[in-house]
Amino acid sequence: GYRARSAYKLKQLDEEADLFDSGDTVVDLGAAPGGWLQIAAEEVGESGTVVGVDLQRIDDFDDHDVETIRGDMTQERTRHYLREAIGERGADVVISDMAPNMTGEYSLDHARSVHLARQAFDVAEELLAPGGDFVVKVFQGEDLDAFREDVRDEFQYLRTVSPPASRDSSSEVYLVAKGLITAPVETGD
Ligand code: SAM
Repeated sequence: GYRARSAYKLKQLDEEADLFDSGDTVVDLGAAPGGWLQIAAEEVGESGTVVGVDLQRIDDFDDHDVETIRGDMTQERTRHYLREAIGERGADVVISDMAPNMTGEYSLDHARSVHLARQAFDVAEELLAPGGDFVVKVFQGEDLDAFREDVRDEFQYLRTVSPPASRDSSSEVYLVAKGLITAPVETGD
């Protein structure tokens, strides 16, 4: 079994968007308790690499080789550890299921969600190899369109998905962005 029902959401997203290949390096942000890590580890296989980050401790896996970092993704320190874990080769896929603690105040929860999603976007731009893919959860609201446009600019393809497995919390959507575009290096002429 999986550690979280959210595992099925990632399974669906992978089936629709073909995110993972055998041997891929995957970064999972907001990874506790580890349902997405289990799916990613299954999909990339033993030749792949999976690194998960969360504020919360993530229990070790018996059957999967997954590296975990405990930390706050809004802090540079955590991003430093993540950068070290990934190394020069870069990541093939960055996925983020990060969510703020809900206050029940809709606009505040939305704003915090977009803030976390933007942190994930920064990490994706920094760590993804050219052509890499990015999936991020974000709560719907007034700032979603601007965020979506910013992500769209950097990838070849972007879709907004509301997986059936998340129908119960109707305000969340996943942006699925494929193919990071890496600008050609300026030659100065
Ligand atoms: N995808 C996970 C799974 O399948 O098990 C479930 C993730 S849960 C919906 C959201 C997670 O985001 C929480 O575990 C929370 O601690 C984490 N989170 C929220 N803010 C964070 C931050 N600033 N840095 C790291 N993790 C964060």
